[in-house]
Amino acid sequence: MSKRDYYEVLGVSENASKDEIKKAYRRLSKKYHPDINKEQGSDEKFKEITEAYEVLSDDQKRAQYDQFGHEGPQGGFGGFGGGADFGGFSGFEDIFSTFFGGGRRDPNAPRQGADLQYTMTLTFEEAIFGKETVIEIPREETCDTCNGSGAKPGTNPETCHHCHGTGQLNIEQETPFGRIVNRRVCQHCHGTGKIVKERCGTCHGEGKVKRRKKINVKIPKGIDDGQQMRVAGQGEPGVNGGPPGDLFIVFHVRPHEFFERDGDDIYCEMPITFVQASLGDEIEVPTLYGKVKLKIPAGTQTGTRFRLRDKGVQNVRGFGKGDQHVLVKIVTPTKLNERQKELLREFAEISGNAPDEQDESFFGKMKRAFKGD
Ligand SMILES: [Zn+2]
Ligand SMILES: [Zn+2]
Repeated sequence: MSKRDYYEVLGVSENASKDEIKKAYRRLSKKYHPDINKEQGSDEKFKEITEAYEVLSDDQKRAQYDQFGHEGPQGGFGGFGGGADFGGFSGFEDIFSTFFGGGRRDPNAPRQGADLQYTMTLTFEEAIFGKETVIEIPREETCDTCNGSGAKPGTNPETCHHCHGTGQLNIEQETPFGRIVNRRVCQHCHGTGKIVKERCGTCHGEGKVKRRKKINVKIPKGIDDGQQMRVAGQGEPGVNGGPPGDLFIVFHVRPHEFFERDGDDIYCEMPITFVQASLGDEIEVPTLYGKVKLKIPAGTQTGTRFRLRDKGVQNVRGFGKGDQHVLVKIVTPTKLNERQKELLREFAEISGNAPDEQDESFFGKMKRAFKGD
């Protein structure tokens, strides 16, 4: 298999700055990380991106690559033979830990806890008016019994003698180009650098316990379906004294039976009789803030839209309020009694059967269409 050019892999120019390279890598690795992207081939793609970044982010390796291409003077930049072990790449873990909440380079270094996601369903009104609520999220917390060490109280975890506490094993290989060192996660301590001889009874040596944690959440006014809110510091706890991750609440908003919402504007339909439409009337319209009166002018057509200013949603970022739009629908009566029918027939006799010819151009066009029949 021929290798693609590293610059091409990251989609950057040959003069790209370190920052540009880092940005490109961040974007691509987020897209293709196998934990996120389950598509076939994303794994290979991710390795390719990571390998390209590993070389181009290192001044010395980049210079070698620029000069010699993929077959560097020391037998290439390989190091992915071991599969998904990213342990040996300088610079990689910093980025890895900020994305995914866990680097693997130094098992004793502080690491930020993982972010959590929680989906919350709100009623139409709750999303518009906001609310304060308590949510319960299952998350891992540091075990109180062993303070996170995983060892039985009174005992201490021992340094792993296979990797001498580094969590990694160096595997040296002789190749035609010289000796290559591959690093792998130590399988004896699973990369932690420590081995627990006597396990803590509470957490069974994990150092963490699953708990349902109650969190107070203040939902702002004007949240819309699909929006999310970050609650800083409420994710999984950090490791080795690192900061906790964040909690992201994703909102799902239930539809309303009468109102529809588009951004900060509210839409509704109001039925009126043809008598109200013809003679004009004042009707009551429900809004989010209670009933309001709406004047229907005489001669209103079906489909006319009226605007109730500031009766929409308070913008979630505080940029004012939307409006409510009222679409008027004229309802044709279906259950007329004899007296009503009589009056309508009389009305028709006086008026003739042609609709009111207010809109000359429209009715003109219609009449010409009939003539052409
Ligand atoms: Zn414990
Ligand atoms: Zn070990």
